[in-house]
Amino acid sequence: MDKTKNILIVDDSEFVRSYHSYILEQANFQVITAVDGSDGLEKLYANPCDLVLTDINMSNMDGYEFIRRVRSDAKYRALPIIIVSTESEGKDKSRGFEAGANLYMVKPSSPEMMLENIRMILAAN
Ligand SMILES: [Mg+2]
Repeated sequence: MDKTKNILIVDDSEFVRSYHSYILEQANFQVITAVDGSDGLEKLYANPCDLVLTDINMSNMDGYEFIRRVRSDAKYRALPIIIVSTESEGKDKSRGFEAGANLYMVKPSSPEMMLENIRMILAAN
């Protein structure tokens, strides 16, 4: 059996963190949560992590800056990063991909869609 995959959830909404954690834990993923980009970096540096789900709109450090900083470290060039944001405009998606995200999902997204995307990206990695 595959080893359990660790997923870092970065979101300033406690509701979203809990909801996404629940979905992922039900699917047997191990979850780590962070409340903003800088907390996300700390948690990433301190824990093994196979994939990141990040929000964009967060105070302190937003998702774009968080992703840029993650990608600036050679160790995390290949780490899968999925943006999960309420922003659905093309320019937000472009900014996300420019920062280094692998996928952009618009909130709210169905649990099935989220899990499907995560499994697809982990399988390809
Ligand atoms: Mg937010």
